[in-house]
Amino acid sequence: MAEQSGIQVVVRLRPMSQRELKGNTLPVVTASTDKKEVTVIKGTGARTLRNTYAFDNVFTSFSTQKEVFDSTLAPVISDVLGGYESTVFAYGQTGTGKTHTMEGDINSSENRGVIPRAAFDVFRRLADDSYVESKVTASFLEIYNEELGDLLCDVDLNDLTALQQKQKQLRLVEDPGTATKKGRGMYVMNLTEEPVECPEDVLKLMARASERRAVGETKMNKHSSRSHCVFTLRVESKRILPDGNMMETVGKLHMVDLAGSECAKSAGGADVDPARERERKNINQSLLTLGRVITLLKAGGKAKGERIPYRDSKLTRLLQESLGGRCKTCVIATVSPSIMSVDESLSTLQYAQAAVGIKNMVQAN
Ligand code: ADP
Ligand code: MG
Repeated sequence: MAEQSGIQVVVRLRPMSQRELKGNTLPVVTASTDKKEVTVIKGTGARTLRNTYAFDNVFTSFSTQKEVFDSTLAPVISDVLGGYESTVFAYGQTGTGKTHTMEGDINSSENRGVIPRAAFDVFRRLADDSYVESKVTASFLEIYNEELGDLLCDVDLNDLTALQQKQKQLRLVEDPGTATKKGRGMYVMNLTEEPVECPEDVLKLMARASERRAVGETKMNKHSSRSHCVFTLRVESKRILPDGNMMETVGKLHMVDLAGSECAKSAGGADVDPARERERKNINQSLLTLGRVITLLKAGGKAKGERIPYRDSKLTRLLQESLGGRCKTCVIATVSPSIMSVDESLSTLQYAQAAVGIKNMVQAN
């Protein structure tokens, strides 16, 4: 049972920040939810360039967290409960609202982002009488420098050696299954999978993860803007259908806060620190491969039997199923309105534009 479905690409423009306002910088990016368009004005006078991009959806600086969730995630969650595997990416320059969109303020019901809202929505739906059994687990993976990290592992945070040892045990593996048993597909061996019984459990796990990220920043010298964070909710359920039949499904929802798009560049020059340059390349690896995979899929590479380079990065390998595979996918590209970031905004919009029109083959488990 397969049907066609596109990758949904939306853009979210954030309000001017205090710093941008103080610097008296001009807003040069405008967005219209009605037209589903984003316009960027670059240069002045006769040299003004005006580019307009169309997307599946556009959110302005006035759009709320609820609006973003309702029109991007709510339909995807129905599919997850129906046994599909889906992914939502936040892509954009550091400081443009990726984490605000994915996590938001977990202590405020109004300002919560996509991850906590997804948790509330999943449990609200599972409360329906037709569900006779359900099991939800959560994991939170970090990909830094093409190395895997467990943001939920329960090791003493002061014990760096134990922490690093634990991280070394993480491995990206594939379980293809057998003739009689369906496999798990790509997954990370030894990654903590916490059972969650209510949405509040998810909020606690998010707090735990941010503690771990802070330790990484201070004690391991990691830069959070350079890591990719993948929060996964796995939902197993049994439900009685109106015709009396029992339906058993396993669905997954990956919510990915990508490294800052500015990381997808090389510092270049002879005086660059080799370790730093390697780190850049490795961050690049996942962002650039994701971009390349998207461009190839858009050009119909899959149908033409071309090799799609999923294996070239950890991120694309793990999420292979959601990119031209059996998943539904949504990319939320975030941009700043300010002239200070205009070049990076243009590059974000072009990257996102490449994903508009990708067709995924969607298949229920
Ligand atoms: P990123 O994760 O892309 O680096 P953040 O999500 O941390 O960016 O956002 C940077 C700052 O801008 C934060 O203080 C955040 O609260 C604020 N911000 C981002 N998007 C919005 C928005 N849509 N509305 C209000 N504030 C926002
Ligand atoms: Mg962030």
